[in-house]
Amino acid sequence: MSTKSMAASTRVSAGKVTESELLKQYGCGPVQFAGTDNGLYERHLIFDNVTDLKVAGAREQFEAFARSVRDVLSQRWIRTEDTYHRANPKRIYYLSMEFLIGRSLANNITNLLLDDLAKQAAGQKHIDLPGLLEQEPDAGLGNGGLGRLAACFLDSMATMQLPAMGYGLRYEYGIFKQSIRDGWQYEQPDNWLRRPDPWEVARLQDMVEVRLNCSFEIHGGSLRVIAGQPASLLGIPFDRPVVGHGGKTINTLRLWVAAAPDYFNFQRFSSGDFVGAFAETLTAESLTRVLYPDDTTSMGQGLRFIQEYFLVACSLADLVRRFQSSNTDWNTLPEKVAIQLNDTHPSMAVPELMRILLDEAHLGWDQAWNITQKTLAYTNHTLLPEALEKWPLVWFEKMLPRLLEIILEINRRLLDDVRAQFAGDEGRVARMSIVEEGTVRKIRMANLAIVGSHSTNGVAAIHSGLLRTMTVKDFAEMFPERFNNKTNGVTPRRWLLLANPMLANTITKSIGDGWTTDFAQVGKLKPLADDKGFRETFLKAKRAAKAQFADWLKSTSGQTVDPDSIFDCQVKRIHEYKRQLLNALRIVVLYNRLRTNPGVDMEPRTFFFAGKAAPAYRLAKVIIKFINNLASTIDGDPAMRGRLKVLFLPDYCVSLAERLIPASDVSNQISTAGYEASGTSNMKFMMNGALTIGTRDGATIEMAEEAGEENFFLFGLTAQQVADSRSWYNPHWHYDNDAETREALDLIFSDHFSRYEPGVFAPLRDTLLNRGDYYMHLADLRSYLEADQRLCDLYADQHGWARKAILNVAGSGKFSSDRTIAEYAADIWKAKPCPVQ
Ligand SMILES: *Cc1c(COP(=O)(O)O)cnc(C)c1O
Repeated sequence: MSTKSMAASTRVSAGKVTESELLKQYGCGPVQFAGTDNGLYERHLIFDNVTDLKVAGAREQFEAFARSVRDVLSQRWIRTEDTYHRANPKRIYYLSMEFLIGRSLANNITNLLLDDLAKQAAGQKHIDLPGLLEQEPDAGLGNGGLGRLAACFLDSMATMQLPAMGYGLRYEYGIFKQSIRDGWQYEQPDNWLRRPDPWEVARLQDMVEVRLNCSFEIHGGSLRVIAGQPASLLGIPFDRPVVGHGGKTINTLRLWVAAAPDYFNFQRFSSGDFVGAFAETLTAESLTRVLYPDDTTSMGQGLRFIQEYFLVACSLADLVRRFQSSNTDWNTLPEKVAIQLNDTHPSMAVPELMRILLDEAHLGWDQAWNITQKTLAYTNHTLLPEALEKWPLVWFEKMLPRLLEIILEINRRLLDDVRAQFAGDEGRVARMSIVEEGTVRKIRMANLAIVGSHSTNGVAAIHSGLLRTMTVKDFAEMFPERFNNKTNGVTPRRWLLLANPMLANTITKSIGDGWTTDFAQVGKLKPLADDKGFRETFLKAKRAAKAQFADWLKSTSGQTVDPDSIFDCQVKRIHEYKRQLLNALRIVVLYNRLRTNPGVDMEPRTFFFAGKAAPAYRLAKVIIKFINNLASTIDGDPAMRGRLKVLFLPDYCVSLAERLIPASDVSNQISTAGYEASGTSNMKFMMNGALTIGTRDGATIEMAEEAGEENFFLFGLTAQQVADSRSWYNPHWHYDNDAETREALDLIFSDHFSRYEPGVFAPLRDTLLNRGDYYMHLADLRSYLEADQRLCDLYADQHGWARKAILNVAGSGKFSSDRTIAEYAADIWKAKPCPVQ
């Protein structure tokens, strides 16, 4: 209850005046609520927005509708926390710098099982429900897969009634909005909180204080640290409900906002580049102003360093306080608390928890260390060296000197142990050291996370294997029992039930609705792949989803696509290792085939791309430009009409994924083998009945295992072959010996796709030919084209296609995040459900 309404009710009871009397007194009389429900929606419009029902705009309608849904869940939300407080179970805390939530209204309605009621209420009130849902901005508090995984995990933990909480930052600006002009990416700020967010609740009473050993000021446009001038920041929590399916458990996502106490000496500074444009004046509030838009790369900026510490310090202070309210013995912390670190971003939790146990609880080192290790667990998300976080040691020295002391002591003890176990192996000591020596000494955050926790997991079998045998081999040899795999998953509630109602209904009609919370049940669809009637129903559902997407695209952008063409998609962050460029080369080859031989028999195809590039990632932006120019060149060629079309859909986000994935026939998962840790869009496509054309990488390997390799279109070098051929690989060989490859490249370099901008694609020539083609595009192009041919041939046989697609859906049961979370709970957290009565 807000303080405002509390004050009002106190006054009413004090004066012994009833609510309706009071309203009458002010000349409004009791409000007449339309419809049959309890009138929450009207109350919100009239009393929150002070708007006449008849003139309320779509945005006001959305706010009132969302608030009504929150009203429905709020008591359940209170009761959930109350149940946890009484039962005092082992709690799970998921620490992540990113939560890519997307929209919440439709998801919450579905998870509360209120779909029918919401539709009925909208009908009675003459509300355009689909239009109203469009008013909600995406909560884009993440870059891509890592942040979306955190959001799927929250959904699964609430559905499985686990006592869990997410901790993150409440960025005022989420991932930037992308627009395309002349084929180039432009970034605009994502001011998603411009209008009040109906879900969040500010919990001022749970504010925490974070101490730093320095202040800051702006100097020549960059951050200057004023050492020896300690300052504090305030962390204010904003809570968002996480509705479990069925509405039994409502967990909390707690996002921190930085604020300055009056005496705070945080002065203006800018962190440069993209972020600097927003955080021009850095008061304390600017700390949580903006999400860093870098995916799988660490930019090593000072503001980000403090953001990471701020998340850790606020969250640990909060959870320790909660632990102490029900427990007295610090030794029981690992029995009551499991903390999962989503990548190394929150790995300062290792020295920060040590600091709390040593300096505040006054425990001895060994006891504190034992508790810390048992409480923390770390998830690694990538093998790319540019993603491994390393912070300059002097930053710790100036800003967090106590944390540095603790890190150095952890390292001293670690290296003693290494030397004791591997006498004389100083190479190993140097590799394992938390401190990287050099002109700029650095703290290796992955080493810190592995040493300070009891579990390190990768996110797909191949990734966990490479982690153990290559990336952090030395650690796996010393602590083999800590290493494990947890193959990622996605929530089937958002990605199938909500996103694809037509397919969801088709599935429910044949196997019942148990699959929504027990996704392995989709396995029951397997025999139906041979049922002609079911295949027809299945094809109808896919055709309807494609038509719906085509309608949406037409009405929002004016572009037309043919729902009878093959919808072939690659949607994900733009990165060289994900090889959007390989996909584009495939399309250039197909284009060349059609140009030289217009009579060639080829299914009509529509290629969809979407994805954002990090603002400072030059080559990724050139790749976007190339795809756009390819699209417009093909569009301008009458011979391609009805045969080949390419679209780059701007501003890829969760909401766009929810529209496009159900409508897709083909999922491209074509990363250089060994470089995609898991991938999760691969799973979303699979459960929506798309066929995958892809490399043996990440979780795609396990997906093919589950559905049967004969139902996948796998191609290209294996991770082993990529590693083995690194030393001698030469892209020129493919240029010289494969005519279609050469013709495609020559066409690009002849400025065929850049007639008025000669030379813009020179960076593509550089990377593919002059710099050795690190991601081996040319090595895989031929086998990609062959797989593509097989795929196209199959499409001509609609029943053959439907059969494989159904077997894919039937084989996707493993890739629910419920399964992933069950494994984390059993193997890492040792946590059990705590049902709310
Ligand atoms: C699922 C998802 C991702 C992850 O996609 P990958 O292909 O696994 O990299 C990224 N962004 C959004 C919006 C998503 O929904």
